[in-house]
Amino acid sequence: MKTFALLLAAGSSTRFAHNTKKQFFKIKGKEVLYYSLNAFNSSKLIDEIIVVSSLEDIEEIQHLVKVYNFTKVRTVVVGGKVRQESVKNGLEAIKDDGYVLIHDSARPLVDEKIISSLLTALKDGDAATPAIKVVDTIVKVKNGELLSFENRDELYRIQTPQAFKINVIKEAHQKFEGKEATDDTQLIKLLGKKVCIIPGEEKLRKITTLEDTNAIEAYIEQNEHLQN
Ligand code: C5P
Repeated sequence: MKTFALLLAAGSSTRFAHNTKKQFFKIKGKEVLYYSLNAFNSSKLIDEIIVVSSLEDIEEIQHLVKVYNFTKVRTVVVGGKVRQESVKNGLEAIKDDGYVLIHDSARPLVDEKIISSLLTALKDGDAATPAIKVVDTIVKVKNGELLSFENRDELYRIQTPQAFKINVIKEAHQKFEGKEATDDTQLIKLLGKKVCIIPGEEKLRKITTLEDTNAIEAYIEQNEHLQN
């Protein structure tokens, strides 16, 4: 059975205060999109990569794939208006059964250890996601007023990549099409299936603002010696 990586790069970067979309913004001379493509392309565990792009960026992404010689990229498909639609379009390009890792290209620092832990965790469930326990106290707020406190012991932040059995995530997207979900594991829970957790990592932070790109650049600089 094959393992796919589904890489999402069809966002419009509306919260990113720069004239370049965040997937093409350069960190240490390489596009944000380069980093996760490189991790999946060089992974021993990934067979094929599907990239999801907006219509206007398809040529630029195909060009990058060629320039960097990412030979595992099978196709670049057009995404939708919301993330969930982009994932569905990407899944439709996968005809085989097996496993898929769905990943935000806005989280460039995925690595082989994370890929491997997710696929191992998937043996025990239908999906797996990295999760980090929250350290701050979390409250509910309405109209500028604090309403209630959440039990911090049970609260985690989840990240991508997330791993899925292909037949299960496809079923979830078909069944819950149009139901707003910000995360694919949410759809798996709606199906009543099991989502396993692996330890998340701060380096998987999502780029939303320019400040996030600075933090990722600093992380790369601090860890450069480990790669050489
Ligand atoms: O907008 P946000 O940062 O939450 O997007 C997370 C990821 O989903 C990004 O990598 C973005 O490119 C992708 N996305 C997408 N299609 C959309 C919206 C977001 O592929 N319509």
